[in-house]
Amino acid sequence: MKIILLGPPGAGKGTQAAMLVEKYKIPQISTGDMLRAAVRDQSPMGIKAKECMDAGGLVPDEVVVGIVRERLQLQDCQDGFILDGFPRTLPQADALKQVLVELGKQLDAVISLQVDIESLVERLTGRRTCADCGRGFHLRYDPPAQDGSCSSCGGKLVQRADDCEDTIRNRMEVYHQQTAPLEEYYRSEGALKAVDGMGEIAAVQQAIISALQGK
Ligand code: AMP
Repeated sequence: MKIILLGPPGAGKGTQAAMLVEKYKIPQISTGDMLRAAVRDQSPMGIKAKECMDAGGLVPDEVVVGIVRERLQLQDCQDGFILDGFPRTLPQADALKQVLVELGKQLDAVISLQVDIESLVERLTGRRTCADCGRGFHLRYDPPAQDGSCSSCGGKLVQRADDCEDTIRNRMEVYHQQTAPLEEYYRSEGALKAVDGMGEIAAVQQAIISALQGK
């Protein structure tokens, strides 16, 4: 199964991707996670990416395309993958098309999570992640058993630097201008499956699985 998850920041792409990993036994390829890892490692790429990320802007296309190109060639992508947060611009979508041709692979579906943009600010400001195991929580919708610590491993829960309100507004603007046009791009190719992303996490997952049936 080769899938793209599309949707604005906070739509639930990461949460849904993690569940699809379990179901289909294929890797989640999150460019945001890979970039955050590069920032943490202070690699040359991470140092350059940090400024764009902190401001809620996009990292240059050639950087993310390079990361994805390398990642898709690894053995664990043989049977499929879930792209989460990539592509985010039309040039990235064109580059992905080219990479897939080179690798002899074809997308099965592009799942577009349909969400009410107004609710996203609350979703994003409430997000917390375990600094140790990476598990995600939401203070209101999926709270940890104990305040501030991960219910899986007891690690410290932290807030992403770009989940503050000003940066979120900028990320939404960037989404509207640069990423939203991808819906039409994939619709015109007959690959787009629109899924209601506003329900409970499990209901959204079921809707995604139904949309992927027969793929
Ligand atoms: P995410 O975790 O997907 O919300 O991504 C966090 C940040 O990483 C974004 O706000 C961008 O600065 C950067 N980023 C992630 N994916 C991409 C991409 N495909 N193209 C450009 N920048 C990206």
